[in-house]
Amino acid sequence: RANYMQQLSILGSTGSIGVSTLDVVARHPDRYQVFALTGHTRTKELATQCQQFKPRYVVISSAESVQLLKSLVPPETQVLSGGDGLAFVAGHDQVDVVMAAIVGAAGLMPTLAAVRAGKKVLLANKEALVMAGGLFMEAVRDHGATLLPIDSEHNAIFQCLPESFKCGGVRDDDAMEVSDAPPDVDDSRARLPGVKRLLLSGSGGPFRTTPIESLASVTPDQACAHPNWQMGRKISVDSATMMNKGLELIEACWLFGVDETQVEIIIHPQSIVHSLVEYADGSVLAQLGNPDMRTPIAHALAWPERIESGVAMLDLAASGVLNFEPPDLQRFPSLKLARVAARERGDAPAALNAANEVAVEAFLAERIAFTHIAQIVDSVMQTWSSTEPECLSAVQEADTRARALAREKLTGL
Ligand code: NAD
Ligand code: MG
Repeated sequence: RANYMQQLSILGSTGSIGVSTLDVVARHPDRYQVFALTGHTRTKELATQCQQFKPRYVVISSAESVQLLKSLVPPETQVLSGGDGLAFVAGHDQVDVVMAAIVGAAGLMPTLAAVRAGKKVLLANKEALVMAGGLFMEAVRDHGATLLPIDSEHNAIFQCLPESFKCGGVRDDDAMEVSDAPPDVDDSRARLPGVKRLLLSGSGGPFRTTPIESLASVTPDQACAHPNWQMGRKISVDSATMMNKGLELIEACWLFGVDETQVEIIIHPQSIVHSLVEYADGSVLAQLGNPDMRTPIAHALAWPERIESGVAMLDLAASGVLNFEPPDLQRFPSLKLARVAARERGDAPAALNAANEVAVEAFLAERIAFTHIAQIVDSVMQTWSSTEPECLSAVQEADTRARALAREKLTGL
């Protein structure tokens, strides 16, 4: 174990993942010190966190909130704002670990700042990888960052892979890049010899058995009432449409260097088996646990060691039956849309993500029906022709263009 105190920046500390991270950190004051916390609008909650964890820096999105925040934080905490503040605390020399837990496209630049500074990056912000996977993974390799997945499925898969596996690989003698990979997975991106498929499990969300004809009239609160997980509202809606699993499919392709055809989605309503890896010899390895994000957070924080997370041990006898079924693509058209974007690559996933963010926001504001979300994403993707983004500004440009298209579709509904 690192025999010094690890300095931690938490991007998005006021969110669901941020709060769970602080819960784990508070259990290990001998290992982790909070270097920086960041929040968007919940200034009071952010200040309360500063009172408890006494970070060196706190970052708030809007410059207008700086004065208020200054009056609420302890004297040792310096208040910064905006994108520059986020990049500063993500890439600061004294930081060892960065938790990337901002939701949506807003998380891309600060997460990349941590990657470019070669940090140990705990990635919750899947949208960053969906938008800019190629450039992101290249930066991980070029800057020697250590990328550890927080998304429970990807964390589970990571745990089921050989210990030597490194997300993004390493630039030179990549231990996993072997020439004797079995021919069925022998494409240029494959770094996982012996792995046949990755199986991403998903609960199916709150509407797995709701009659399809009533989906048009479900409310944001119903969509956010996930049966197994407590999460932020955007990802909760994504779980209800299963676009979350679609984004995770794309995320898995980048993290593990596999092709979309090597990732299968399986519905598992109990959310006990968090994902699985299928090997050439017929072995299937899975990671199990109670559905609580503190497990993947503690895993990634301590990796390659193990620490207590506060999560109750799984009682398999009490859980009883574990069910698995194939996903219903008619009920969850988002899964098809995401697979097409994964296949097209280029800036198609960025467009998918942007259109989805616009549509989800409109649904949460009760401007459109639940079923319109996938329709809007679909109509944006119908007109999209994918090109390979050579740089980040091309990604941002695709994001902006897809958002504009989605807004057009919104008004045309
Ligand atoms: P949340 O909405 O609860 O929290 C989001 C955080 O981001 C908050 O701290 C907020 O202040 C900050 N934020 C929002 N918009 C911002 C902006 N424009 N600029 C700067 N900061 C901003 O979300 P969450 O559920 O914690 O999810 C965070 C990320 O983790 C998402 O990408 C999500 O997909 C991923 N994730 C979450 C879970 C979960 O269980 N909650 C599981 C897997 C992955
Ligand atoms: Mg997940």
